[in-house]
Amino acid sequence: MKKLFKCTVCGFVWEGTEAPEKCPKCLVPKDKFVELSKEEADKIYSSTPTNDIHIEIIHLATKIAQLCDEGIKMELDAKCVTSFEQTKNEAWTIKQRAKAEIAGHVSNGKW
Ligand SMILES: [Zn+2]
Repeated sequence: MKKLFKCTVCGFVWEGTEAPEKCPKCLVPKDKFVELSKEEADKIYSSTPTNDIHIEIIHLATKIAQLCDEGIKMELDAKCVTSFEQTKNEAWTIKQRAKAEIAGHVSNGKW
């Protein structure tokens, strides 16, 4: 059965039957890993789909901001430019809200 092991140096979480020989992120040896409890593992598994949605929202908000920049450059008329500017600001808010939520998940072991 697969278990989760966390690098005590960088926080990388490994899934497997045992800890990796080296941390894939910071390269410390296996003895720097601790096995996560069932409760800790459940938090990570149950929050993964939600975290993925937040990441996708960040991606989409970034795309919206890029589209707004294109629209602003076209300068069709003042109202149109204002609309793109407002939308770009709203995309920033959406993106930051999702990032703040992810930061909260990380600090609560839901990552
Ligand atoms: Zn590490």
